[in-house]
Amino acid sequence: MSTSDDAKPELASLDRRHLLAYAAATAVTGSVLAVRPDSARAVVNLGETTSSVKSVSEALAAAQVSAWGGFSNGRIPAEVLTTVSATVAGSGFLRDDAARQFLSMSLAFRQALGRSLTITEGYRDFARQVDYWNRYQAGTGNLAAYPGTSNHGWGISCDFGSGVETAGTAAKRWMDANGPSYGWQPTGNGFSRPEPWHFDYSGTWTGPSNVNKNAKAEDVDTVIVRCTGPLSEYPVAGYTVLVGVRSLRHLSNIDMVNAMRVVGTPYYELDWVGFYNVLSSMGVPRSAIRADADYFWG
Ligand SMILES: [Zn+2]
Repeated sequence: MSTSDDAKPELASLDRRHLLAYAAATAVTGSVLAVRPDSARAVVNLGETTSSVKSVSEALAAAQVSAWGGFSNGRIPAEVLTTVSATVAGSGFLRDDAARQFLSMSLAFRQALGRSLTITEGYRDFARQVDYWNRYQAGTGNLAAYPGTSNHGWGISCDFGSGVETAGTAAKRWMDANGPSYGWQPTGNGFSRPEPWHFDYSGTWTGPSNVNKNAKAEDVDTVIVRCTGPLSEYPVAGYTVLVGVRSLRHLSNIDMVNAMRVVGTPYYELDWVGFYNVLSSMGVPRSAIRADADYFWG
């Protein structure tokens, strides 16, 4: 399932002979994909969009609706994305706001389900989209979006694990019910071959808040996660807290923690196992845990 993708297609109506003919007619050279006009039938609904598309150019145009920051789909520099932990190598990135909401959602998931919410695949660069597309056409892969049209290529899609990949599980039910309140929509349910694991982040991008790595203030009010137990790096039970995304502080007393808890800021307490888990999921290195920790973006 890690190779799954998510065109939004009524692909049942797509016949494989046409698709293979289309594949043969399609040359992949960088971001330019040559397409024969008469192959249009083969790409019906291949955009990861809410409406059907009838050609590659329409799919590419539809994908532009989700464009942000002036970047090209699948070609977003890693330094403007936010690190998360994901199983598929090279996919552990999300758009900053999507990552922040993932953090809050994963903490709520942990409270409800008692385990971490894992990402199988997040960001999908252009080369991987081409790879999946080719495997899909060869009949060896799952549904694949046309290269350059996957929402994974904008850093706003996740394929989740932790049971979310299976319809009918408690984890999947929780995500369908609660994901949308964090902006994470269970769009994979609507694919012609449903992909329960696929979610799209629907929040509107509001700007490059993590392009400026020194913008600490913007990172303060997202979420506070306090470790309640001693950590091996700092073996005194204290007040080590993750504040927002990829930011870690050690505070010397509980009053300092409480001072950060403005009204409405989600607050969680985790034991050391859970705390390490959250640090890992947000790409905060263990080396950041120190008695004088004031870590931000490494
Ligand atoms: Zn997906």
